[in-house]
Amino acid sequence: MLMHCSISIQDLTAARPNTRSLNSCVLIKKVDDEYYLRVKNTMYPTTKSYKLTMLQNIHHNFIREGKMGLEFSEPRQLLLIVCKDKALLYLFFRKLKNIINGKDVIISTRQMPRMVPAIHETVNRFHPSSLQFVSIRYFDNRILNMRHLNRLVLEDCDLPTIPVQIGNLPITYLSITGSKLPTSQSELDVFWNFTSLSTICYTLRTLKMDSIGIKHLPFEIFFLKNLQTLSASYNNLSYIPHCIGELKRLKSLFVADNSLLYFPHAMSCRTFKEVDISNNPFELPRPLKFDHITKYIEIFGNKIKHPLDITSLRHLALNNLLNYWLPFKRQDIPRSLWIYFEVVGRCMLCHKWILPNNFRIAHTFALPSAENTIKDHKINNIPWQSLLCQNANECERRV
Ligand SMILES: [Zn+2]
Repeated sequence: MLMHCSISIQDLTAARPNTRSLNSCVLIKKVDDEYYLRVKNTMYPTTKSYKLTMLQNIHHNFIREGKMGLEFSEPRQLLLIVCKDKALLYLFFRKLKNIINGKDVIISTRQMPRMVPAIHETVNRFHPSSLQFVSIRYFDNRILNMRHLNRLVLEDCDLPTIPVQIGNLPITYLSITGSKLPTSQSELDVFWNFTSLSTICYTLRTLKMDSIGIKHLPFEIFFLKNLQTLSASYNNLSYIPHCIGELKRLKSLFVADNSLLYFPHAMSCRTFKEVDISNNPFELPRPLKFDHITKYIEIFGNKIKHPLDITSLRHLALNNLLNYWLPFKRQDIPRSLWIYFEVVGRCMLCHKWILPNNFRIAHTFALPSAENTIKDHKINNIPWQSLLCQNANECERRV
């Protein structure tokens, strides 16, 4: 993993600290079973190596702001790293932590570049034929003219809205990491509408939404049929909806630093390329009470059944929506239906869509199957939540 950043190296034995920050490249290397951090910049043009066994302290309190400090005991130096790519810095931090925890970490064979590239502010030219757009402050409507845009980075922006027309662009990579989402309910209600347009539904492969303060994944992202990478680390997620199983091509899932208690069973039989589940509790509450399901039951669970029961009619409409899984704007369906997408899932046995009114919950324990799993050292398995038809007679399991 090669990281471009700026570093100021402070000699902790010197009376006056150095405050000069240099444009640098940083790399972790493994030589003869020993890990090294290598730094290259104008002060160390032939690279300076630090033994990671000498790493005394990692200051990571400001990692969300793209800053990290590495304190070495030999030499007695403190490296203050500032990196614009916060997600990369975070991955770098995790890699360091894994090495310190004694895990055998796979180190790529990348070499130091011969020249340290200069860090430029990205210039957005709004050229209609541009393939990439990076914004560092706010969204600009001129993006909508970039008909060939395939990479849209709106990180650390003020994002009161994403115009729905973005969904007409053939975007394969979208990042809104670190951005400030709207605070008003009416703006939030329409925020994800762009996912209902047919182009982006099929083109989007990577969606990064780390550190945007969300409590649950918007169900609209499950319309993105070809999504391969979903990154939602550093949020407040306590569950992942079972609908995620409909994302058949999802290969990489990054959900570190959330409040997850379990994974949905729908994902248990796939092999991921990469999964990051670190810093989540993964402990089932006792008694088994899940806030989003409880909320659903409170609203719908105790209604008196009637031949023309409105809830069954709703289920009928919902069933149609789920079976065809065609994208729609959430305002196009009654608000009361929205919560269904948080709780609905397929019966583990017959694969029929079921709701809390008629499902049982069971848990099994295992680790996700992945080529590369990033997890806490102490976690040996996580709960997988499966849903089953409550009434065995109604279960349409085919023998
Ligand atoms: Zn069933």
